Amino acid sequence: MNQVSAAPVTEPTVLCEKCKQPISRTALIGSGYVCPLCGKYNRIPARTRIELLTDKGSFCEHNATLVGENPIGFPGYEEKIRTAREKSGEYEGVICGEAEIGGERCCIFVMESAFMMGSMGTAVGDKIALLFEYATAKKLPVIGYTVSGGARMQEGMLSLMQMAKVSGAVKHHSEAGLFYLVCLTDPTTGGVTASFAMLGDMIIAEPGALIGFAGRRVIEQVMGQKLPDEFQSAEFQMKNGFVDAIVPREEQRNFLSRMLRLHTGR
Ligand SMILES: [Zn+2]
Repeated sequence: MNQVSAAPVTEPTVLCEKCKQPISRTALIGSGYVCPLCGKYNRIPARTRIELLTDKGSFCEHNATLVGENPIGFPGYEEKIRTAREKSGEYEGVICGEAEIGGERCCIFVMESAFMMGSMGTAVGDKIALLFEYATAKKLPVIGYTVSGGARMQEGMLSLMQMAKVSGAVKHHSEAGLFYLVCLTDPTTGGVTASFAMLGDMIIAEPGALIGFAGRRVIEQVMGQKLPDEFQSAEFQMKNGFVDAIVPREEQRNFLSRMLRLHTGR
């Protein structure tokens, strides 16, 4: 069985995550899920994002049905996975494959927020590591979109091991002189931030995205001091050197194609 598309929405309207105003689904897709009323960057289904970024009909998915198990017998995990599949219409928390952007061939992975907030378990780690290995063998650049609450606690230490596994695959890709651009979207946190989200040759972010490792409350408790309001925003991270550029959603496709063209020497 092939991957199904993101679950169809029967309602003609969707509520904005911020202003809670109903927006027609067609208008929302047309604006790249940016609210036309308040400008909020609503979370965007991974498959829709791939459609918006890549050349029409060029996307070919890899390892579409690769799934994990319940390696440490975590209570209720199978049920949680089942619910996540129904909610997202996807098998796992990331979609990987190859495509063309502005005529430039590349590998691409996009994490899915509707699947357990893009948490990274063994299947997510496997899919991304396999994509980098494929890209290295085929001498292709990689474009990655992160959205994640971090490692998947239901898989215990095995989820943390994905950080090292994917980082190793990224390193091999880098040593082969190949280009990796990562776009951090809201939120990118935990083990994903501490590994492949920060390993891009170029790191871009969406405006206002929350980017960090530990959460604000944890840090405030440990440090015993209040953090500035803009702490962990994309803009704050850019000011402090973690992010190279903040690129609005409507400009990303052109930006990616320009960067791919520059780095493939054309
Ligand atoms: Zn809004």
